[in-house]
Amino acid sequence: MTDWKARAAALYDGSFRPMFIDGAWCKGRSGKVIEARNPANGDLLATVPQGDAVDMDAAVAAARKAFLGPWSKFTPFERQALLLRIAEAFEQNWEDLCLSDTLDMGMPIQRTLGNSRRVLGMLRFYAGQAVTIHGQTIQNSFPGEIYSSTVREPIGVVGAIIPWNAPIAGSIWKIAPAIATGCTVVLKPSEEASLTVLMIAKIMQEAGLPDGVLNVVTGLGTEAGAALAQHPGVDKIVFTGSTATGQAIARAATGNLKHVSLELGGKSPVIVCRDADIDQAVPVAAMSVFANSGQICIAGSRLFVAREIHDEFMRRVADYASNLKIGQGIETDTDIGPIISARQADRIAGYLAAGPNEGAKVLAGGNRADSPALQGGHYIQPTVFGDVTDDMSIAREEIFGPVISALPFDTLDEVVERANATPYGLAAGIFSTHLGTAHKLAHRIKAGSVWVNMYHAIDPVVPFGGVKMSGYGREGGIEHMQEYLDTKAIWINTD
Ligand code: NAD
Repeated sequence: MTDWKARAAALYDGSFRPMFIDGAWCKGRSGKVIEARNPANGDLLATVPQGDAVDMDAAVAAARKAFLGPWSKFTPFERQALLLRIAEAFEQNWEDLCLSDTLDMGMPIQRTLGNSRRVLGMLRFYAGQAVTIHGQTIQNSFPGEIYSSTVREPIGVVGAIIPWNAPIAGSIWKIAPAIATGCTVVLKPSEEASLTVLMIAKIMQEAGLPDGVLNVVTGLGTEAGAALAQHPGVDKIVFTGSTATGQAIARAATGNLKHVSLELGGKSPVIVCRDADIDQAVPVAAMSVFANSGQICIAGSRLFVAREIHDEFMRRVADYASNLKIGQGIETDTDIGPIISARQADRIAGYLAAGPNEGAKVLAGGNRADSPALQGGHYIQPTVFGDVTDDMSIAREEIFGPVISALPFDTLDEVVERANATPYGLAAGIFSTHLGTAHKLAHRIKAGSVWVNMYHAIDPVVPFGGVKMSGYGREGGIEHMQEYLDTKAIWINTD
């Protein structure tokens, strides 16, 4: 059995980890650093540079040089071979990558390890896509020998900004399609979780990624992130994070009218119909929120339950929540790991207080979790609120913590209207054993992804993204490649 604690001590010892620009490992101009602390116990894991606008200029220049230089001569088959080598290297280093994420942002190790199908699948899917890029020959209405065709070209330098809740998958979803299409990347990880992204850059460099194709600038969102979003040398921004930051990025991008894709927040409904298979629905509905301690954009945090089965269903969800084991992510039996930071735990605790103040009833949890084994970390009990109404803040706002708000409903028309009455549109879940009901609801709910009798499924080949204020653009699937390509029309007069 793996001794994860011994491996953790060997992986991070509190030392400085440089950032990655133009194939070189650099300290950053200012000399300032950000501390990377383990949210499970407060231990210092490492320090990373607090990159600024000057570092960002250097990274964007390196990405441009690579885009115009030897990288532009790589054939699709060479880019494919590179992605396949990176996939191999990821497979060999998978346990270290997962351990790094668990230490840096708290996700239970069993969950990080379980993401291999998705992450390795992404690298291999985009390797396949690299050799499928093609334009069209188009018959035009001009007389004579005039030919028109299109070619698909890489969009250029891509600025990628990611949050802290899934660094491995979050960064690969930005980098792999860039390599497949021939773009170059400047990636700004979250200041809360940069370490695994630096490890990813090292693995890719060792697998043969040319200098400048990927640059990682660590730093604050308001400093390094803002500099990237407004940089005139960047052709596209791909962003995952909160809706408020997405709005700031869309505004900053107007300077050079760069393309923007936004994967933002949500307040996703899960609808449990009266004919649902309750045994199946209880654990899935609960874990739709409690996985990763609720720090998931697609959390099904508004749980609509048909009134006929509501009390029984919620009693079972509350039991399920109360039996989850809270602990450090490094322990293999942990269900609920820490919250990323004291600030985020305080924010969630504000909602734990707001629920009862606004009239909700605590069915499970409702407090911070505290025990000698959790000292130094930030933990919140998995919480279930009953007697919630649509106007309460816990039913309207994204909490990004392990908090379920239960809402009874009477008719399908009513639940569709209430489920859609949100500015967000990222995901939804439906539980019903009646195919017609499930089918109709799936079409009527406004969301980028709808799962029936399941939740959470995300696959490299299936597009993922939001509608309304959950953003625009798609990651995954063939659509994702199009986000990194421009179309050029070429006319040839052979007369
Ligand atoms: P955040 O918006 O605070 O930060 C995300 C990233 O943006 C970080 O790297 C941060 O440094 C950077 N940033 C912050 N301010 C910036 C600015 N002014 N300009 C440029 N960059 C800036 O989000 P978070 O708290 O790290 O993550 C949680 C949020 O992310 C939640 O709202 C969650 O729903 C969302 N999220 C969405 C998805 C999705 O796929 N839709 C996935 C994961 C997380």
